[in-house]
Amino acid sequence: MRAWIARMTEDNIDQSAIEKAGEILKNGGLAAFPTETVYGLGGNALDAKASEKIYAAKGRPSDNPLIVHIADFDQIYDLCPAVPPQAKLLADAFWPGPLTMIVPKGDCIPDEVSCGLDTVGIRLPSHPMARALIRESGVPLAAPSANTSGRPSTTTAAHVMHDMDGKIAAVLDGGACGVGVESTVITLALERPRLLRPGGITLEQLRSVLGEVDVDRALYEKIGDDVKVSAPGMKYRHYAPKAPVTVVRGNPQDTAKYIAEHIGNSTGVLCFDEYREMFPTCVVECFGSQDDLGAQAREVFDRLRAFDDTSVTQIWAQCPSDEGLGLAVANRIKKAAGFSVIEV
Ligand code: AMP
Ligand code: MG
Repeated sequence: MRAWIARMTEDNIDQSAIEKAGEILKNGGLAAFPTETVYGLGGNALDAKASEKIYAAKGRPSDNPLIVHIADFDQIYDLCPAVPPQAKLLADAFWPGPLTMIVPKGDCIPDEVSCGLDTVGIRLPSHPMARALIRESGVPLAAPSANTSGRPSTTTAAHVMHDMDGKIAAVLDGGACGVGVESTVITLALERPRLLRPGGITLEQLRSVLGEVDVDRALYEKIGDDVKVSAPGMKYRHYAPKAPVTVVRGNPQDTAKYIAEHIGNSTGVLCFDEYREMFPTCVVECFGSQDDLGAQAREVFDRLRAFDDTSVTQIWAQCPSDEGLGLAVANRIKKAAGFSVIEV
């Protein structure tokens, strides 16, 4: 069955559409909705069957747990028996917003959501449509990114329809997502706080509140299938267009020059706006100015997806350095490349 779509804006929410989608969720169905990071594929987080439907719609590996979304801070006490003191500090600073905290899990969370872990990821999004829908459904929502597993995340309703039409009941279309990369994931369930996935809240911002924050090695290197990782999702090839990607890192002028010297037939190039003219024979997708990390984060998934409508057989990619939001953007591009990175 085709998904039912309701278009609206953040400032002009269609309450009847929220009610209709809320009804679908209450009845165990799935509805995709915009958040400030990417589109989420929502289902009742307290209903194991709804989670099973999410895994099936995405083709998501069954050992990759789902993040649970709430609309008000106090809902965390229903989901977590012992809320760590750092969670309150982080919530005061960054919720509602693009931050997921891993905390000890309460019994009400089914194993299908947490994949048998004794922890659960919780996020309070800031997008008004997301919060209206969570409130309307009356339950916390398990909501991974609304893409087919392994593909770039969805930042528009068109992306969601491309991947999910026929598999889910409804899509709320709120236009393009403002942040564009997924939430930052930090675990508070280890001895020291540890960053598991860089995202909309930067490592620098986390350290300004918590002091020391460790960084999981899965951010920087490819993890073998046999290795136990803190965030199971980090070990999978992710965000990947169909053609293989190679990242070239370094000063942007040098990386553009290196790519120009190595391009061949049927080559795609993902580059900063400033370097478009250097690749006249290639399929070029620009993802923002080299100095505009916000634009890069908003554009990166859409631009990676665009290559799939072309016949390129190889993609070269520029990539920002690791400061600020650059850590998240660089992580997504490196993961799209399966950590095939050349430093120049
Ligand atoms: P997505 O649902 O696509 O936004 O991905 C969620 C990310 O959060 C994945 O990398 C998961 O592995 C990670 N995650 C979710 N729940 C947990 C948890 N309880 N412990 C560690 N990582 C988690
Ligand atoms: Mg995802």
